[in-house]
Amino acid sequence: MHSVAITHLEKRFADKTVFTDINLTVAAGEFLTLLGPSGCGKSTLLRCLAGLTTVDGGQIHLAGEDITQRAVQKRGIGMVFQSYALFPNLTVTENVAFGLKLQKLAHFQIHQRVQQILELVELEDYGHRYPAELSGGQCQRVALARSLVVQPKVLLLDEPLSALDARIRKHLREQIRAIQRELSLTTIFVTHDQEEALTMSDRIALMNEGQIIQCDVPEQLYTNPANHFAASFMGQYN
Ligand code: ADP
Ligand code: MG
Repeated sequence: MHSVAITHLEKRFADKTVFTDINLTVAAGEFLTLLGPSGCGKSTLLRCLAGLTTVDGGQIHLAGEDITQRAVQKRGIGMVFQSYALFPNLTVTENVAFGLKLQKLAHFQIHQRVQQILELVELEDYGHRYPAELSGGQCQRVALARSLVVQPKVLLLDEPLSALDARIRKHLREQIRAIQRELSLTTIFVTHDQEEALTMSDRIALMNEGQIIQCDVPEQLYTNPANHFAASFMGQYN
C-alpha cells in the first residue's frame, strides 16, 4: 500500500499558470476524488503525478520516496483517461497484455495475469473480441484492466466515466470502487460531477482555478462547504 504526498506543486505553461502551490496527501488505499469545474487544473495535476508533463516546482512523494523527477515508466503509476485509447487492431487480451510487454515475463505468466485481471473487470469471456465489438463501458473496463495488469502502486483515473451513458456510468462507479477496495489500491479519481464524487469517494479535494478549496469527507463538503464557491458548486447537480 502506497501513500501519495504532493507539496507546493507548481505548473506553468508558456502563457498560462495552472497552479502555484498544490498541497495534498492521499493515504495508502484511499479513494480520493479531485472534483472541480472544467479548466481548473485537474488533468494537469494528474499528468504531473504520472510524469507525463514536467513540474515547475514542488515535490511528489510516493510511499515516502521523492518521485518528482522520476521517468514515467519507473513511477509505478497507472492511468486511465476519458477516451480509452485501445489499440483497435488488437484483441481485448492483446490490449491488456500490451502493458506487460516491457516486463520480462514468460508466456504462461502473461496469460495467467491477463486472465486474472479480465476476471476482475468481468470481461473473462471477451478476450478474443476487438474494441469495435465492445460497448463504451466494456472498452473502459479493458482500459482499466490494461492499467491494472502491471500492478501499479497508485491508480489515476481522469474522468473515466464522463463519455458513458448514465446507466452504464452508475454500474461502472460501483465496479471501480469494488475493484479498488479489493486491491486496496491508492486511487485518485478526477471528475467534474458532484454526484459521482459524493457517492464514490473516501475524501474529495474540491478544486477551482488551480487551488484546492476544501479537502474532506463527502458529508463535510456537502453540509459544511468552506466558502461560497464550495457551497454553490456542491449544491448544483447536473
Ligand atoms: P481540467 O482537467 O480541470 O479541465 P486542465 O488541467 O486540462 O483542466 O487545464 C487547466 C488549464 O491549463 C486550462 O486553462 C488549460 O487551458 C491549460 N492547459 C492545459 N494543458 C495545456 C497545455 N498543454 N498548454 C497550455 N495550456 C494548457
Ligand atoms: Mg480534464
